[in-house]
Amino acid sequence: MRPLRAFSDNYIWLIDAPQAPGRIVVVDPGDAEPVFAELRRSGASLAAILLTHHHPDHLGGVEALLGAAAVPVLGPDDARIPALTRRLRDGEAAQLPELGLHFQTLHIPGHTLSHIAFLGHGALFCGDTLFSAGCGRMFEGTPAQMSASLRRLSALPPATRVFAGHESTAANLCFALAADPGNAAAAHYREIVAALRATDTPRLPSTIDLENRVNPFLRCDDAAIRAAAVEHAGKPLNDAVAVFAELRRWKDGFRA
Ligand SMILES: [Zn+2]
Repeated sequence: MRPLRAFSDNYIWLIDAPQAPGRIVVVDPGDAEPVFAELRRSGASLAAILLTHHHPDHLGGVEALLGAAAVPVLGPDDARIPALTRRLRDGEAAQLPELGLHFQTLHIPGHTLSHIAFLGHGALFCGDTLFSAGCGRMFEGTPAQMSASLRRLSALPPATRVFAGHESTAANLCFALAADPGNAAAAHYREIVAALRATDTPRLPSTIDLENRVNPFLRCDDAAIRAAAVEHAGKPLNDAVAVFAELRRWKDGFRA
């Protein structure tokens, strides 16, 4: 599994089919050009497209890719995504048996209402719901929906690798350390990320274990984070959802 870069900070993830050498699956191809360039470079052929949500920077390349090769398109059950050959609901299997790929669908609303993730092969493709050290904005969902979705991802096996839709790790860590300044794991991670950035190396995938230690949006039960959110809100926050909502509001206006 490896990234192609698109736009300013999107990742289009490539999955090599374990049982079909030379065939690849792409996740969230917002732009077809980087995918075509990779197919030309590697000589591989496109076998399927997986989509996490309907935003143009995640599916803008689908039409052009389908123009070159009619392949299965698996994504959320949402009328705003016209090209789907398979509409997936929570818990459904997303299987490409001829490729040796088997994923489980997780419905994780919040960034958008129909947003899904693909879980399988020790990997989580989570679009714009969970980022490393951060999370997506709530364009359609409520804080209760988004925090429940993140809680669900947080409970996945710790070694699960996290393949997010954007590279925002460094900026997210600035906020994480503002909200959670005593977090030694986040401070250490910031050093690692700075070194990767210096050599233009992708900072993803992360892991659920790392995110549970450094990501403030997965740590709304933590006493220090709760205290920081209460201080920022200037009022009591009754539960973890209220803490999450305040963190998200804080981050929306945060400038490093
Ligand atoms: Zn999005």
